[in-house]
Amino acid sequence: MERPFAGLNTDIHKKLKEVFQLRHNAILTTAEIKRFFESEYKNPDVSWVQPSDHCINMTNKGACWCSKTDKAIFEQIRRGVYKIR
Ligand SMILES: [Zn+2]
Repeated sequence: MERPFAGLNTDIHKKLKEVFQLRHNAILTTAEIKRFFESEYKNPDVSWVQPSDHCINMTNKGACWCSKTDKAIFEQIRRGVYKIR
């Protein structure tokens, strides 16, 4: 899947950080992460919100700059389940 524009992940990163910075160590599924994001931002399209793009222990094509750095927002516990860092 192509991202609609290059800055999108940076923008989503900032918003994810705001949503999840007070939820350290919470363990959430991808669906729950999207639901939190959606209720916070009333964003009609959360399909671009992928925790795996902001993950310390995995990376994807087109992942956020934070992936595999200590600024990553999530740690993958198992497939589809993430801990907030
Ligand atoms: Zn990120």
